[in-house]
Amino acid sequence: SLPVVAIVGRPNVGKSTIFNRLAGERIAIVEDQPGITRDRIYSRSEWNGREFHLIDTGGIEFGDTDEIMDHIRNQVELALDEADVILFVADARDGVTTTDEEVARFLHRTNKPVILMVNKVDDIKYTENVFEFYQLGFEHVIPVSSLHGTGTGDMLDAVVEHF
Ligand code: GDP
Ligand code: MG
Repeated sequence: SLPVVAIVGRPNVGKSTIFNRLAGERIAIVEDQPGITRDRIYSRSEWNGREFHLIDTGGIEFGDTDEIMDHIRNQVELALDEADVILFVADARDGVTTTDEEVARFLHRTNKPVILMVNKVDDIKYTENVFEFYQLGFEHVIPVSSLHGTGTGDMLDAVVEHF
């Protein structure tokens, strides 16, 4: 079966935007359990001839911080279960937030490779915002603009390196 790449991160960082940019054929999976809906969208994607499945684990909006954290825990559990590589998305314009730090702590509990994609670097002036993300402790920290597509090649090179 194909390697699985799971996209995780707090809301509004651009997970769905990068998913849509990279997505090929889509497969939607919704599992209803009492009290929760775990929805995932899988797609079949490829980079340099390497095929993989991509999972966008987002899609639910929450009002308060506790609910956001519950949702993120859910996402990370799914990612840990199913992923070969985790694509952790953050927002260069917001800088490192406490929620990013929380997600990073979860991800450090696994041995799975994590690529930290610092999104919304639409302009060179945001490049200096990227350096602080190294404090989250991941080897790969890659500036991307999902909007323009810049940096996505470097990001995908890092992803497929770990298959
Ligand atoms: P998600 O909640 O993590 O799935 O985030 P979305 O993909 O829904 O994006 C949240 C918002 O950020 C939307 O308004 C996107 O258009 C915007 N966005 C996503 N990627 C970029 C980017 O690279 N640059 C800018 N400027 N905005 C972006
Ligand atoms: Mg989304």
